[in-house]
Amino acid sequence: MSFADLGLSDELLRAVTDAGYSEPTPIQKQAIPSVLMGRDLIGIAQTGTGKTAAFVLPMIDILGEGRTRALMPRSLILEPTRELAAQVAENFDKYGVNHKLSMALLIGGVQMGDQVKALQGGVDVLIATPGRLMDLFERGKILLTGCNLLVIDEADRMLDMGFIPDIETICTKLPKQRQTLLFSATMPPVIKKLADKFLDNPKQIEVARPATTNTNIAQRLVPVPSSAFEKRKALRALLEADDVQTGIIFCNRKTTVRELNKSLKKYGFRSGEIHGDMDQPARLAELDKFKKGEINLLVASDVAARGLDIKGVSHVYNFDAPWHPDDYVHRIGRTGRAGATGTAYTLITPEDAENIAEIEKLTGQKIERVAVPGGKAPDAGDDAPSEEAPKRGRGRGKPAAKADRAEKPASETRPAREERAPREERAPRAPRPERESRPPRGDTRRDESRRREAEDDGPDDGWNGPLPDFLNFTLSA
Ligand code: AMP
Repeated sequence: MSFADLGLSDELLRAVTDAGYSEPTPIQKQAIPSVLMGRDLIGIAQTGTGKTAAFVLPMIDILGEGRTRALMPRSLILEPTRELAAQVAENFDKYGVNHKLSMALLIGGVQMGDQVKALQGGVDVLIATPGRLMDLFERGKILLTGCNLLVIDEADRMLDMGFIPDIETICTKLPKQRQTLLFSATMPPVIKKLADKFLDNPKQIEVARPATTNTNIAQRLVPVPSSAFEKRKALRALLEADDVQTGIIFCNRKTTVRELNKSLKKYGFRSGEIHGDMDQPARLAELDKFKKGEINLLVASDVAARGLDIKGVSHVYNFDAPWHPDDYVHRIGRTGRAGATGTAYTLITPEDAENIAEIEKLTGQKIERVAVPGGKAPDAGDDAPSEEAPKRGRGRGKPAAKADRAEKPASETRPAREERAPREERAPRAPRPERESRPPRGDTRRDESRRREAEDDGPDDGWNGPLPDFLNFTLSA
């Protein structure tokens, strides 16, 4: 089946050809004709499957007809994070190049004044994170009564972040007669209930989870001792042993992201960081550096990196084993995209045994254990520090500086400060975070700290520089 068989307009077919796509992905084949026919839809799919185009393409054709009205967007796309919202906006730019649709992006960290101005001009597509949208709604700056098409994207992630109550409220502000499309990687009961309540006789489509079927990703577990010092040493050895063109390194906590990035830079790696405590311009600037190749390693928290679609990520490293098995699937899905091959390493400590069992259960496969390059054979129970120095690799992921700089960043003769193990790292192992601190799955209560990590709306004047291209609101013909 080709794109031409899906019922899309000639203008869209041209845009799709220009995007370089020869064939629709399974979710696109199944979703596009139904959406064009005006049906509600539940898509069980995650990023990497082409799900964004599965709703953006038919939306562009549907919205091609009709006119905008001030403060009354014609369609609404809800995204859990700013980055995802920005990415969907980029998709509208790409596929809507032959249409004249107006679009506004409502996300935290960007001046509200500009966003309101765009709404006043009337928009065909409003892409929003729930927090900022509710804020504007409560200030009477927006009317959703003309919004006949709603997309709830990454619904399970919305659940994790405590956005479900906001989404329920938003749904009640839209006309009852509307088309609703809901996408989610998984279908926990709360999401099923949401769909039952707000969707009308939806067509349900499920496409294979990339992590369970994507043989393009080589997955490896690397047993390491629990100390941060040993974990950083193991990570450096892995980075140096492989041909890392671009890699994303995931940590469970923002503080770990910051510390790890600092340490990697000290060892001469070209790394950057992205996490929820950074303001929006800083996050976008870091992403831009990564996309342009100015840095080739991005240390990230789950929330900031969720759904990031960056071409050519050769490696994913889980510096911390994720707390939720779903996060594992999302994290490793940043590599091996669009037919490319990728490698995903997960550092595992003896305390991670339960998490790993859950991951292996979810993905339905036993993941191979490998040793740290230059280290001992894998043994997850071994907590003794590795004695051998990591071997040097030839990969592009190795430090930009001299090959031995990583070993001796401080001086040529004395061991690096980190190799000497700073005092706090020689102290008894830091207590593991309580298991209760793991965010409860299926709990719709607002978890403020997770939520702030997800979307810190920040002050209104959070955006200081010029607006990037994707915040320009008119798609020109
Ligand atoms: P998504 O699942 O929406 O995050 O998309 C994953 C990646 O697949 C993006 O880089 C898209 O540009 C790309 N993509 C979407 N549809 C197709 C297609 N039909 N053929 C090839 N690549 C595609």
